[in-house]
Amino acid sequence: MTFNTLGLEPKILSAIADAGYETPTPIQQEAIPQILAGNDVIGSAQTGTGKTAAFALPSLQLLGAHQPGAAPRCLVLGPTRELAAQVKEQFEKYGKASPLKCTLVHGGVGYGRQRQELADGADVVIATPGRLLDHVQQKTMDLGSIELLILDEVDRMLDMGFIDDVKRIIRMCANKKRQTLLFSATVSEEIKRLIARSLKNPVVVAISVKISPAETVKHEVYPVGAMQKFDLLVALIDSMEVDSMIIFCRMKVGADRITRWLQQQGYSVAAMHADLNQKMRTQALQDFKDGKIKILVATDIASRGLDIANVTHVINYDVPEHSEDYVHRIGRTGRAQREGDAATILAPDEESKLVAIEKFIDQQIPQRRLDGFNYLYEPRIREAEAKPKRSRRNSSTSRFGRRR
Ligand code: AMP
Repeated sequence: MTFNTLGLEPKILSAIADAGYETPTPIQQEAIPQILAGNDVIGSAQTGTGKTAAFALPSLQLLGAHQPGAAPRCLVLGPTRELAAQVKEQFEKYGKASPLKCTLVHGGVGYGRQRQELADGADVVIATPGRLLDHVQQKTMDLGSIELLILDEVDRMLDMGFIDDVKRIIRMCANKKRQTLLFSATVSEEIKRLIARSLKNPVVVAISVKISPAETVKHEVYPVGAMQKFDLLVALIDSMEVDSMIIFCRMKVGADRITRWLQQQGYSVAAMHADLNQKMRTQALQDFKDGKIKILVATDIASRGLDIANVTHVINYDVPEHSEDYVHRIGRTGRAQREGDAATILAPDEESKLVAIEKFIDQQIPQRRLDGFNYLYEPRIREAEAKPKRSRRNSSTSRFGRRR
């Protein structure tokens, strides 16, 4: 299978060749001809599968040339500013032979530039829901002209509480000829209801793909007592040949603390989470992409969708709360068939989360120990002393190797 068979025009094929892509990924093989045929499409694909190109390439072809001064014809709606910026990059990369005007509309920055760009005329608007609605309210953006509506990472938008905003935006895109594409890693009942209301006879692409870790990622768990987590993190970093690493933490304060501690030890590191202002987030991401910073310490804001090339290592400093986030976090490495390593630091009170993840991905993650690091479980030992009933379990050993 090559890109030549999908119905794409020569200038887009040439941009694909320039990007260095040889064969279309499965989601591209299935989605591109359907989108070009004008169908509504539901795409279910895990992160790193090339889904952005699966919608950007045919969209560019359908939109054709830039229309100076015209109202926006295509709207891409996504959950985060970073993801929106990345989608824009891809539209520009694949569309360089006949550049369309793409405008980013997201929060965390001033309105002035966005207003100006919208007034100048944009073919494609790539937006997060809240700021887009602000522009609609201020009448600096009208959605009635949208012919192609792309809802990206819908499950994430719903997780982030954007459901009502997304529904309102869809209703405002009232053009009768509208084509709608919906991409989501998982399709919940709520998303099915949204689909039923918003898409016309949609073609389902790869809906049955189970979200699972990319095969190119080697992932392991490192059990350790909670007090030794940071020391283990440092030992792991030192044992790896790190070109670029993302360390995931559950909490923003945790990410800040780890960043500070690593900086104190002389590592090249920056933090990335929702409490930082947009300038700091963009700067951290850019420095990381440029290789000026080797380690990014992030919360789950960075775990999905972000396409940072060449991430060689991911470390989960905390076991993620939601099993799906495990797949998204480790999916930051091993992208587009490159090899990657992921390590998860497991403290005893996180065991139940690991069990849930292993059930979700339907595999046991290999466990490794580093010398000098013990899987001590003090809190529950104390708990067991306080509640004699629990001491009956003392004689068994869990699969995590700790004596209960
Ligand atoms: P995405 O799933 O859209 O985040 O894409 C993940 C990565 O795959 C991006 O770096 C793309 O540039 C890359 N990519 C997309 N399509 C292909 C392809 N057909 N061959 C190789 N890499 C690709």
